[in-house]
Amino acid sequence: MASAAESGNDLEACGCPAVPDVPSATALTAKLLERGLRRVAVTFVNHAGSVLAKGVPLERLPLVASQGLGFSPVSDAFGATGLIDPQQSLARPDGDLRLKPDLAALRPLDPGNGWAWAPGIRHERDGAIYALDQRGFCARQEAALAATGLSALAGFEIEWMVGQPEPAGGWIPAVAGGPYGADRLVEGLDYLSAVAEALDAAELPWLQLHPEYGAGQFELSLAAAQPLEAADRLVAARLVIQQVSRRFGWICSFAPVVTADLVGNGGHLHLSVVERGVPLLAGGAGPAGLTPRGEALLAGLLEQLPALMPLACALAVSYRRLAPCRWAAPFQVWGVENREAALRLVPAAGGEPGHLEIKVADLSANPYLLVGGVLAVLLDALQRPRVLPPPLSGDPSAAPAAEAPRLPRTLTEAVRAFETSPVLRDAMGEALQRTVVEARLSEVRRSEPLADDALIISTRAWPLTGI
Ligand code: GLU
Ligand code: MG
Repeated sequence: MASAAESGNDLEACGCPAVPDVPSATALTAKLLERGLRRVAVTFVNHAGSVLAKGVPLERLPLVASQGLGFSPVSDAFGATGLIDPQQSLARPDGDLRLKPDLAALRPLDPGNGWAWAPGIRHERDGAIYALDQRGFCARQEAALAATGLSALAGFEIEWMVGQPEPAGGWIPAVAGGPYGADRLVEGLDYLSAVAEALDAAELPWLQLHPEYGAGQFELSLAAAQPLEAADRLVAARLVIQQVSRRFGWICSFAPVVTADLVGNGGHLHLSVVERGVPLLAGGAGPAGLTPRGEALLAGLLEQLPALMPLACALAVSYRRLAPCRWAAPFQVWGVENREAALRLVPAAGGEPGHLEIKVADLSANPYLLVGGVLAVLLDALQRPRVLPPPLSGDPSAAPAAEAPRLPRTLTEAVRAFETSPVLRDAMGEALQRTVVEARLSEVRRSEPLADDALIISTRAWPLTGI
């Protein structure tokens, strides 16, 4: 087996975060112990978008950083409700992978209880990165972008609902108050204060926290970061929100659809791109200040949106959220500040850079696959520039279908676009793309016998199951 230092070099060579050597892991451990941290949860996010974890005493961190924690490859065949579908090629009992924490990304999770958290990357026993590792894929795309002089900043918006599920399939919102209502802010102030405190304690910088439109719904905007770090922050922030919600005796749901009559929960991805120091999405002569390279970037992303859908919206029920007039942006169009456009351009203002919002995404997405896929598409968009259609203003559902095509209406349709995308095939590699297709088709099979209401109830408290 390669030594920790050798593995670190290999990882750097392929553009992935290196596993720090044992002395630096030892120094980090000592620092964390001094701060009162005692244990660390190491996580990864599987193909179905579930966060899987193992906890270890902090003293074991140097060893764990070099040797990893055992995880069977079957974890990527766990479905949305945790069941293993035997039709997936990963549904086999053999094999072992080593989940190594990324120490550069380690942060407190619940410091009051002594917990730290680190996202991991799974490795083969010989030290090579596992080809199907989602975070490894994302790190590779970030490195590929950097190699061409590009850098991106990304930030997720998290929407969620707090409530009490009812046996008959109902859902009682835990906090009263109207859409974006200050009354809901006040009704839920103890809760939101606790969420804010917990985010600060977890060292997760955030920009906004407020009541959203739906009953019992809230929203958190995380501060922008390098793309891999943005995905990490999403994972950690959701764990923090989940933990605080439990302290209040509530269930928090990140499901795209919680009940049929409510708006859904989105997981919008904000993105800005700079090429050799020049922002591409602002300061140009194109529509809303787009530069020519920015136009190419948008055009490529727009073209590949259907193919990105299984990465952005992974549950069968995701496609119930994507109805017109619910602000879920189910149209393959771009628009300037148009909240029904799957790609919303937000022009530079008030010191904020011009940026893009991929509004169609929800929180069933594995953020590493989604961010990695988007970065791959951006790279391709700049390498093979296409012509950007004009922006759409107004309601896309009132525009002729040719000007505002609907994005895939089902997961099956989305999978077809994904599996035939050479851009994503080249970036992900055959095995990663194929096994993600298998995971999505397994979700399609799970959903097929379920009537609409039963489908919604089956993932109503996603990612919690059995509720
Ligand atoms: N809740 C809406 C969604 O499903 C988004 C509302 C908004 O932030 O515009 O994505
Ligand atoms: Mg919102």
